[in-house]
Amino acid sequence: MDVILQRGDKEKLLGQKGIAIWMTGLSGSGKTTIGSALEKKLYGAGLLTQILDGDIVREGINRGLGFSDADRKENIRRIAEVTKLFVNCGVITICCFVSPTEEIRSIAKSIIGDEDYLEVFVNASLDVCEQRDVKGLYAKARKGEIKDFTGIGSVYETPLNPQIELKTNELSIDSCVDIIMEHLNKRK
Ligand code: ADP
Repeated sequence: MDVILQRGDKEKLLGQKGIAIWMTGLSGSGKTTIGSALEKKLYGAGLLTQILDGDIVREGINRGLGFSDADRKENIRRIAEVTKLFVNCGVITICCFVSPTEEIRSIAKSIIGDEDYLEVFVNASLDVCEQRDVKGLYAKARKGEIKDFTGIGSVYETPLNPQIELKTNELSIDSCVDIIMEHLNKRK
């Protein structure tokens, strides 16, 4: 009988362990910036990664989902299932999603599994994010052009138990990446 290849076989092939690095934080807090800097660092170290990013996922696999409570949950459920597939192939999967509530984050964690879920709270105050306004979304939300925008019309619950917290208005991008790298190295 054929033997089905296991996760361990794939991790051995790649010489690394799969994990989900789950970045949560307000829009503009720095998830994508840190995620892509982290990916470059890992790539440089010969490690295979995949970034899953809110905007890209919403244009693709989750096209059609909105920002109601039910849609936000379905959005995260699908993302977490996709993340799990990557992690089970041994890939270091960097997930950049606002994921605003404890409930949403716990859905992700329970699908991905405790062992494989590293929660990173990318923390910048609403004021700082609004000043940065990278995509001009806060201005639109303030004008009422976007309803349910997290931080304005919709709540962001501070994570209760993140494994890592990065205060991006105090730390440089490089320091944020180094902090995550330290955790990954400890886990080996
Ligand atoms: P998000 O993905 O959370 O919506 P982005 O990464 O798109 O946020 O935007 C974050 C913005 O903040 C970028 O313009 C980035 O250059 C800036 N920034 C300043 N300091 C930091 C830091 N330490 N970490 C991450 N981003 C930072």
